[in-house]
Amino acid sequence: MTLEHYIDGARVPSISGATFTSVEPATNEAYLTVAAGRAEDVDAAVTAARKAFSDGPWPRLPGEERAVILRRIADAIEARDERLASLECRDTGLPITQARGQARRAAQNFRFFADVVTTLSEDVYRVGSAQLNYVLRKPAGVAGLITPWNTPFMLETWKLAPALAAGCPVVLKPAEWSPLSAGLLPDIMEEAGLPPGVFNLVHGIGEEAGAALVAHPDVPVISFTGESATGQAIMRNAAGTLKTLSMELGGKSPLIVFDDADLERALDAAVFGVFSLNGERCTASSRVLVHASIYAEFTARLAARAAQVRVGAPSDPATELGALIHPEHYARVAGYVRLGVEEGARLAAGGARPPHLPHGNFLAATVFADVTPDMRIFQEEIFGPVVCVTPFGTETEAIELANATRYGLAAYLWTNDLRRAHRMAQAIETGMLWVNSQNVRDLRTPFGGVKASGLGREGGRHSIDVYTVSPIVHLATEDLPVPRFGTG
Ligand code: NAD
Repeated sequence: MTLEHYIDGARVPSISGATFTSVEPATNEAYLTVAAGRAEDVDAAVTAARKAFSDGPWPRLPGEERAVILRRIADAIEARDERLASLECRDTGLPITQARGQARRAAQNFRFFADVVTTLSEDVYRVGSAQLNYVLRKPAGVAGLITPWNTPFMLETWKLAPALAAGCPVVLKPAEWSPLSAGLLPDIMEEAGLPPGVFNLVHGIGEEAGAALVAHPDVPVISFTGESATGQAIMRNAAGTLKTLSMELGGKSPLIVFDDADLERALDAAVFGVFSLNGERCTASSRVLVHASIYAEFTARLAARAAQVRVGAPSDPATELGALIHPEHYARVAGYVRLGVEEGARLAAGGARPPHLPHGNFLAATVFADVTPDMRIFQEEIFGPVVCVTPFGTETEAIELANATRYGLAAYLWTNDLRRAHRMAQAIETGMLWVNSQNVRDLRTPFGGVKASGLGREGGRHSIDVYTVSPIVHLATEDLPVPRFGTG
């Protein structure tokens, strides 16, 4: 099977003819050939998108008419629900039951932004009786969308839906380790009646196709989700053409458990928060900070639960933890497990390949206890099914530990003391905090990180802000005095 680019409404190979292969995480066998885009393919896609922006109907359609097409896109995604889930499961190693949720969420993204675009309004400022100032909200131009391999289809639609809703033609560059499900998008867009040139897809390696998209002078907006180090490279590369950048980056999110919390629920959230989506989740609760008075018991129970997490074939509905995306990533995660042992953390569960799964990228749910903040496993994003547990004595210590990494994407707080919850919400350096809750998100709310976890916000109207510009018109309603120069 070969996946091609989609440029100006046509499925095309790379101009150079270059391809790369994709492997199935459960077996590590190559099963897919993918067109490897280079600068000239990106240029062709941007040229098509640019033409759709300057001459095409899409940016000029009223919001209601764009919304009709966005809803049809949602319908077309839902009609492929099972197929999408099975492609995603095969291509990324996600357990099938969790892949199903991703397809549903992808359709919701389009329905949600269809609603947003029909309810948008522009601001008006009255300046006394002399001036009326009003804001024009206009599509920003061609949007470059660069996405990661974790929950790829859902994250692609998380960017596509608001960009298209705002009226921007797009060039999507999906992650090279998970290109399969994006291959459904051309059919979906055609079925929905999106005009040619509005949605363009270029596959390829990040440093080639991604970098060419970032450097392209006709792309004024890049929305990127991926590693913090890649975000830094993109910012450097974008400097030459001064772009709007939206950066959703890595995380090392703490889950903090106080002794007054509902411990059973906190335990459920800790286990689910780091072992769902194979631990390959930007908002994973990968550091668990536990009050000293309950530390021994909570850690023992967390380890016991981790030992029972069912690792298995991604296609098996009983599987809770599937195969990690790629042998290179597997080696990286396994390297962190070795490092944790070397650094002196106590391996309380997992740490190895389950014996019944001799092939593929399978790792047992892993718990490190007695982890200290100076350890690299505490500081660095592992992006796999590995959790670090650390005790704290006081609220101040909990805050210090929570803030002791370069990241600040998400945090989870378990306490029944409401005043403490408010205090900690102020003090924790995070883009998002859940109190006594797992990661449940309403699409209207802002999404993003602080520190090395990101710049800017997406979600709801914040996403529309990324893809629009807001010039202001100052209109005189009376004869305002104009200073008269050169009259002697
Ligand atoms: P990655 O940074 O390696 O790759 C992401 C995308 O960037 C891919 O499409 C890749 O091809 C492209 N890319 C790589 N180098 C590039 C370059 N020089 N120029 C342009 N594009 C380039 O990330 P990944 O390994 O695919 O994804 C995992 C990371 O993503 C983790 O750090 C995770 O925390 C993060 N993530 C963040 C969020 C969030 O919303 N904050 C969500 C999901 C994942």
